[in-house]
Amino acid sequence: MLIRLGLKQFTSLLIDVHCHLTAEEFHGKVERVIADAARSGVKIIITSGLGYEDCLKALEISDHQIVFPSLGIAPYKLDDYEKVLSLIEKERSRILAIGEVGLDYWKGKREEWSKQQKVFEDFIDLAKSLDLPLIVHSRSAGKYALEMLFKKRVDRVIMHAFDGKATHAARAAEKGFMFSIPPTIARSSQKQKLVKRLPLDNLLLESDAPVLSPIPGEINYPRNVRISAEWISRLKNLTFDKVAEKTTLNAMEVFDLKIQL
Ligand SMILES: [Zn+2]
Repeated sequence: MLIRLGLKQFTSLLIDVHCHLTAEEFHGKVERVIADAARSGVKIIITSGLGYEDCLKALEISDHQIVFPSLGIAPYKLDDYEKVLSLIEKERSRILAIGEVGLDYWKGKREEWSKQQKVFEDFIDLAKSLDLPLIVHSRSAGKYALEMLFKKRVDRVIMHAFDGKATHAARAAEKGFMFSIPPTIARSSQKQKLVKRLPLDNLLLESDAPVLSPIPGEINYPRNVRISAEWISRLKNLTFDKVAEKTTLNAMEVFDLKIQL
């Protein structure tokens, strides 16, 4: 997809690869939230739909200039999943990715885990057949989600807010999987460990707004991907601009984005 940004130069442009602008918290404020993000350098936002109705809203608020849609479903609330699968097929040309989809062994009951796996497989197969990247949710199930993705030989994968072990993540990074880092890195030693362990080539920025705020209990915003970038630059001893540039290039590659200033 080609994006025209109308910018004078390509400096410190940030991409929020995963958030939920359709969330109630942003109701009636989406334009302000986007303008605010743009002022902080976040010029591209990928908003992820969760379930059929939310996916329709994500398509509606996407303008394909700043906001792009990705369509998925929460693994612990799979009622409408067949409708989401067909919506993705129908809207293939308008979306950047499938997701978030995946496994959630924390919220999902144990007796539903096999259904989660089956549905996740359907979304993986669809991503492969439509040649779209997958944004993967894997709460308390990181290792299992990675194993399924390895077995299916998927290569365009974004593990979002990965909460598993850095050793598992490192193995996935060797296969080219990307990891998007949320602003909770400011208060999570697990995320800090992850960033230290993974090469910059495999890192992206995400807010997951309105959740995963750097301050517990507060609403999170896409502009806070700056905090993720600041932490990556500190932990890797790189300049902020270097982190901004590389994570943007990484995102352009995995989402097949071409940016024209
Ligand atoms: Zn999310």
